[in-house]
Amino acid sequence: MKPFVYVTKPVPKEIEEMLAEHCEYEIWTSRERIPRTTLLEKIKEADGLLTSGTKIDRELLSNALKLKIVSNNSVGYDNFDIEAMKEKSVIGTHTPYILDDTVADLAFGLILSSARRIAELDRYVREGKWTKSEDDESLFGSDVHHRTLGIIGMGRIGEQVAKRAALGFDMEVLYYSRSRKPDTEKKTGAVYTGFHELLERSDFIVLVTPLTDETYRLIGEAEFKKMKPSSIFINISRGKTVDEQALIQALKEGWIKGAGLDVFEKEPIEKDNPLLSLSNVTLVPHIGSSTHVTHVNMLKSAVQNLIDGLQGKRPKDIVKELR
Ligand code: NAP
Repeated sequence: MKPFVYVTKPVPKEIEEMLAEHCEYEIWTSRERIPRTTLLEKIKEADGLLTSGTKIDRELLSNALKLKIVSNNSVGYDNFDIEAMKEKSVIGTHTPYILDDTVADLAFGLILSSARRIAELDRYVREGKWTKSEDDESLFGSDVHHRTLGIIGMGRIGEQVAKRAALGFDMEVLYYSRSRKPDTEKKTGAVYTGFHELLERSDFIVLVTPLTDETYRLIGEAEFKKMKPSSIFINISRGKTVDEQALIQALKEGWIKGAGLDVFEKEPIEKDNPLLSLSNVTLVPHIGSSTHVTHVNMLKSAVQNLIDGLQGKRPKDIVKELR
């Protein structure tokens, strides 16, 4: 008998075909998020779960009578309760490497948009406000090239951001990470610095750590106050790595010049979030890895991990805490 897999989001036809070859499966086909009560019911029968962002906690695992593997279709796995999964011997996998370039491209999109005020000035043009000539200082932005970029969390994605900065924009690249990365330093010329030194020296700061107990609100009031008033802060990690209220205050009171955000404390963002009314921040809806090619490649990898786990083989992308 084929194992039964539950899939918490709609997937393209080719992914469904890949699943069908090896598993019985059911897919949550609505674009609305799957209700928790539905998932708690469905998980009872599932040998495998293909998901992204769904909380895999004690409550869900206690309902899961047969579950062998949760395959996350994302690289971040802050939705996993690692201890609970260990106790239940449930394998957890993710999709590293595939999305690095795509997410690094978005980081640069946010850097450029924030520095040159692209999103803000797009609104200005559309709203019929274009009366000034290009040498009017009110339209000026900041240069990106030849300036200093600080990367917090120099992993797979961080390295690709560093490469773009050093090779494409002649930037000086500083980084702070849990451990030093000699290979990345060789490839990109990035220089390891202390956390506070990076905050003080960088013109642009890209935050790209995983969300963990250690990185929860890693950047708050004290950190924003250390940054240059001319600096631009980019968050492509997870919303909860930043104290969002402190960020709002930093943007309002000019502790920093601007921000580019792909991730938020609460997603989708709430309609009364003060960030929505600030002109010095570029906001995008968690689209770091959202291109067609990368989306399909991530799903293919996630399904392969799932199938391997269900067939008793060792999936190649088991998250490090569960290896
Ligand atoms: P990765 O290769 O594991 O890199 C993360 C880096 O952060 C590692 O170098 C790690 O250090 C470092 N780090 C961990 N905890 C730290 C701490 N407390 N202080 C300083 N550095 C710390 O992961 P990745 O593939 O680059 O992805 C990073 C994160 O980006 C994901 O976990 C996810 O949350 C986020 N992400 C967001 C999107 C999006 O759509 N916006 C898309 C993909 C990923 P060590 O090497 O020493 O462990």
